[in-house]
Amino acid sequence: MEEQLMSVIGLRGATVFDSTGRDPHRADLRLHDDVIDTGSGPADEVLDLDGHTVLPGFIDAHAHVGLLSLYGQASWSAAEQAGYVFRNLRESLDQGFTTLRDLGGIDGGVLKAIKAGLINGPRVHPSGQILSQIGGHGDMRPKFSDEPDNPGLGGGLVRNHALCTGPDQVRAAVRNQFRRGATQIKMFVTGGVLSEGDPLESPQFTVEEIRAAQDEAQSHGSYVTVHAHTDTGLLRALEAGVRSFEHASMIDEETASALQRSGSTVVPTLAVDEILASDPAAWGVPDHLLDDLDHLHTEQRRSLTMLHDLGVSLGSGADLIGTEQRTRARQIYLMAKEIGLANAIESATRVNAELLRISDRVGTIEPGKLADLVIYEGDAAEDPEIIGTRPPKYVIQSGRIIRRP
Ligand SMILES: [Zn+2]
Repeated sequence: MEEQLMSVIGLRGATVFDSTGRDPHRADLRLHDDVIDTGSGPADEVLDLDGHTVLPGFIDAHAHVGLLSLYGQASWSAAEQAGYVFRNLRESLDQGFTTLRDLGGIDGGVLKAIKAGLINGPRVHPSGQILSQIGGHGDMRPKFSDEPDNPGLGGGLVRNHALCTGPDQVRAAVRNQFRRGATQIKMFVTGGVLSEGDPLESPQFTVEEIRAAQDEAQSHGSYVTVHAHTDTGLLRALEAGVRSFEHASMIDEETASALQRSGSTVVPTLAVDEILASDPAAWGVPDHLLDDLDHLHTEQRRSLTMLHDLGVSLGSGADLIGTEQRTRARQIYLMAKEIGLANAIESATRVNAELLRISDRVGTIEPGKLADLVIYEGDAAEDPEIIGTRPPKYVIQSGRIIRRP
């Protein structure tokens, strides 16, 4: 699976989507150690890619590699959870995701395992625990439990939600996430789909509380991204200075315009509901929530199209959960159906790189950028449906061929 670093790799004759805004075109590429090069000369290995498509390494801006079960993960052993987390990471890379922003669950500890070479995995930007209000989307306690906090989830390996109230507790929660290696902060500011007792429309946290999180994150040179399905909570976060939004699935035109004016980025998440809807029983989704899923599906597409038409910057996130996270690239396929393949690819590469603040190194195919590439058999300019419906043929991360036939 893993290969020795080649000093020079030549890629010949592929159709290249470089995510710079340029139309797909036929080009040769040269990889020198870990970067894309302009030079010529002999290569240690040449891949003949006639009839293939080369794309920048995919970035999933909304992952949860440590959120393994919707219910009852607290009863799993730490060893079991670690095994699944590592497999989720390995498989993400194998599907072409060279970078993940994890939006809740794992902390900087997992990163150390990747950096130590213990597992093959994407570059990871962890968030630690998601900030959640009492009784809100991330309050996982049984309704009448007297426990003061959420159930523990495996000895610090995976910790999903931090319950907090008031600006002081919010600040403390933010500081704790950075202490454990978070690179950004995730916060729930509206209800969610698979939780009961907090309707989707309900705003969560006050402007004052959200502002405390945003200010504190900025002090750490970082930012807050908020889970927001509906208008009121989203607008509160916007007022509090937040410029990074997840889902935005049921919003009106006024909210969409406010997002556009503020220069915010929205990460639509389409892949997860496809999976939940395909086998709700396996996910333990109660029957009475199925209609909600259906409604969400329609509303998400309406909101996404509206945001795209208004020119709002769109990232891309699969929001996969569970122990089988092999369908991450479905997000690109599903977004392509709404906004076209080239836009969907740019969302999952260049825009996500900008969002993660790493666009100086990854996100496009340009000389000097890191050699993170995904290569599909077939020409996506002629047959866009190959992206996200079949596994890639090659995956290259920092100039290393991670996957090959
Ligand atoms: Zn999520």
